[in-house]
Amino acid sequence: MRYVSTRGQAPVLTFEEAMLTGLARDGGLYVPETVPEMAPAEIAGLAGLTYEEAAFRVMRPFIGDTFADAEFESIIARAYAGFGHTARAPLVQIGANHFLLELFHGPTLAFKDFAMQLIGQLFQAALERSGNRVTIVGATSGDTGSAAIEAFRGLDNVDVFILFPEGRVSEVQRRQMTTPAEANVHALAVRGDFDDCQARVKDMFNHFEFRDRVALAGVNSINWARVLAQVVYYFTSAISLGAPHRSVGFTVPTGNFGDIFAGYIARRMGLPVERLVIATNQNDILHRALSGGAYETHGVTPSISPSMDIQVSSNFERALFEAYGRDGAAVAQQMQALKEQGGFTISQGALQALREVFASGRASEEETSATIRATHAATGEILCPHSAVGVKVAMDQPASATPMITLATAHPAKFPDAVEAATGLRPALPNRMADLYERAERVTVVDNDLGAIESLIEERRAS
Ligand SMILES: *Cc1c(COP(=O)(O)O)cnc(C)c1O
Repeated sequence: MRYVSTRGQAPVLTFEEAMLTGLARDGGLYVPETVPEMAPAEIAGLAGLTYEEAAFRVMRPFIGDTFADAEFESIIARAYAGFGHTARAPLVQIGANHFLLELFHGPTLAFKDFAMQLIGQLFQAALERSGNRVTIVGATSGDTGSAAIEAFRGLDNVDVFILFPEGRVSEVQRRQMTTPAEANVHALAVRGDFDDCQARVKDMFNHFEFRDRVALAGVNSINWARVLAQVVYYFTSAISLGAPHRSVGFTVPTGNFGDIFAGYIARRMGLPVERLVIATNQNDILHRALSGGAYETHGVTPSISPSMDIQVSSNFERALFEAYGRDGAAVAQQMQALKEQGGFTISQGALQALREVFASGRASEEETSATIRATHAATGEILCPHSAVGVKVAMDQPASATPMITLATAHPAKFPDAVEAATGLRPALPNRMADLYERAERVTVVDNDLGAIESLIEERRAS
């Protein structure tokens, strides 16, 4: 299995190389050269397996010969051992034909643990073998950073630096990043917003001299291994509801498009997914793009679902690459226009290709809050604000006999203020992290300046 860049100019890599690299050297994102398909009988054979067994079968074709089967199995076992639910990704029914996929039982209470815990173990295994050391740099609107720090804390061959927008993450998110005491983790509060953090990380990857000197590795949602890990729960949940004999739909609270792109890969592999619904909050660039064809940045408006407060959706480039028939030059041109003019227009053909798979909707702040309240009243289920955006958009879809699965992306206790404002109830943290508010914090505030951030990283990393 080989990986190619969405911009067509970077070297073709193996799974291991693509995973350790993150962003391609031409600025693009790595995607598999071909998507392996699973026959209906193979999909049916996943029924009744544990999450880990299903994960092995779904991911195995993508990793080539990077890991032997037994090693890959033990990597998967270690990745999910710390989850607080034996099903890992349980389904709950919240309405006639409407189900919630609870993805918040990992160590940091958000779906990003599914990918990050796996990637931590994959990195550890690959670096142990090569004896190399890498510097992981990531930008976060809150959940990626806490999941990355939790996954890499204390690992031998890795320093991890997480850039988050100062004052724009929830207290639980901040504390999850600033309280781990291990010397190899560094939380950097950047004076700027999430897009600034993401842009500085991209700058570091495009600064080849720095990139090579510190052996930069990326674990943002652009990393292919993260997308891959997320493909698994589309399979396990659809199979619980009768796939491959019955189709399902998914509604996915979306920011950087990584999670929903994993659903697209599951569909390409043969899972009968009727539609994938993009759910955005008031930062609705993806909904506007799907509706009118214009992908235009408007600036970020902070919301009660902060992990979706983005204006540039990185992984959308992967969907564009497919919609443009894998024409890397066309994608590179659009991305150039985005950089220079703040937007581009999707061609009619590509827009049509996208609309065959994706639908979209948005939820306002008031609608999000009302959905948390109404879902609690109707079912007793307490949604986090991101999941509520998903539930609202799912309910706005045309009625259908196909079951809808909405992804619940975080635990409500991660966003207690928004939940309390909506329901009057303050959700409690699970017991295993109940002392989070008492632990000591460690954080460095830094200007939104590439040079300053690079110097700090050079100074702090263990060489
Ligand atoms: C990251 C995140 C999202 C958005 O996921 P993408 O893969 O960036 O689209 C939604 N909800 C929560 C809670 C998140 O942490």
